[in-house]
Amino acid sequence: MTTAAINHTSRVHAVLSASAADRWMHCPPSARLAERYPQTSSSYAEEGTRAHEIAEQCLRAFKDGMPEPVYHGDDLRVRAELQPYIDWIVETYNEYKDKSPDTLMLLETRVDFSSVVPDGFGTGDVIIISGTTLHIIDLKFGKGVPVEAALNPQLMLYALGALNLFEDLYDINLVRMTINQPRLDHISTSFASAAEIRYWGDHKVAPVAKQAYEGKGEFACGDWCRWCPVKNCKHRAIVNQKLIEDHPDPAVLSKKDLGAVLQQLDQVKAWMETLKTYATDQILSGEQIPGWKLVEGRSLRKYIDEDKVAAKLKSEDYADAVIFEKRLLGITAMEKTLGKKIFNALLGDLVVKPAGAPTLAPESDKRKECNSATIDFADIKEEE
Ligand code: SF4
Repeated sequence: MTTAAINHTSRVHAVLSASAADRWMHCPPSARLAERYPQTSSSYAEEGTRAHEIAEQCLRAFKDGMPEPVYHGDDLRVRAELQPYIDWIVETYNEYKDKSPDTLMLLETRVDFSSVVPDGFGTGDVIIISGTTLHIIDLKFGKGVPVEAALNPQLMLYALGALNLFEDLYDINLVRMTINQPRLDHISTSFASAAEIRYWGDHKVAPVAKQAYEGKGEFACGDWCRWCPVKNCKHRAIVNQKLIEDHPDPAVLSKKDLGAVLQQLDQVKAWMETLKTYATDQILSGEQIPGWKLVEGRSLRKYIDEDKVAAKLKSEDYADAVIFEKRLLGITAMEKTLGKKIFNALLGDLVVKPAGAPTLAPESDKRKECNSATIDFADIKEEE
């Protein structure tokens, strides 16, 4: 089976898309409310789309035994940053193939999970079927936060769609799901049986998807609000304002109250930033926000043309040592320049990683707790 190469930008999006499943499963009415807002794109989203196109082209070339396209300009950088992902896919595919010569790898495959989500469909970046294993692989090109595969509804919906697509052809019983984030050096994998995926779809997804499709259900705030197009959501405003009102007395917050407020702090900060950006965009598009206007922000002086500045100073006999500064590359840039292997061989014992400054984190954070008695604050420095 083959799939044609697709222009990823022109894809249509489902009302209940797999990529937004974390949001609409937690907050079903957000799906229909979001339709009132224009779909916006960002340079990050466009870069992600291009990365997916390039990854598809390269993997297709690998599959067909053909040379890859030649990339230029910014595509060249994207291609280089995709290398760990391409290597990992090739390696994974070859491992499967060694065990089972009939292994099948599909790229950018449309999968249909409308059996549990009305009009539900999506596109699996890479799907491998080998023996009785189905492997769903999702590329995330962003440099933001690492995303875990465990109980990830986007991957599970793709898996459900792939099970629907292939159940008549293959006897699949194990589902492996991977998120690969090459720019974060992060690969996360989880496993489930085909029966578990189907049970989850029928019992957890289907009822809530029906509500979401009909614009019903309860609003709920959480991390998923970050990606919600409803930037001026009233429910989110009420929840966050209530948080402040709930602690009016006594004059100072108790430790318990402080703990509760801290739990919500990131949420409130994210909401406030969202509102500021939303209000700015509104005024920029000609709307009025009573009591607010846009003013020119702070800016820094800059040279119009650095070459001309240098030429001018040299013509006045200023020496290079006076007008230029010579600096060693930072660790990240040096590692990139030398390559990880050479960097470690040459500089491994000349690099230290000092303890980070104590950072407040919720109890659920996976990092080890700092013992306040053993922290030597004098030793704490920034990494670079
Ligand atoms: S901002 Fe949050 S609470 Fe409001 S609609 Fe979106 S997901 Fe729901």
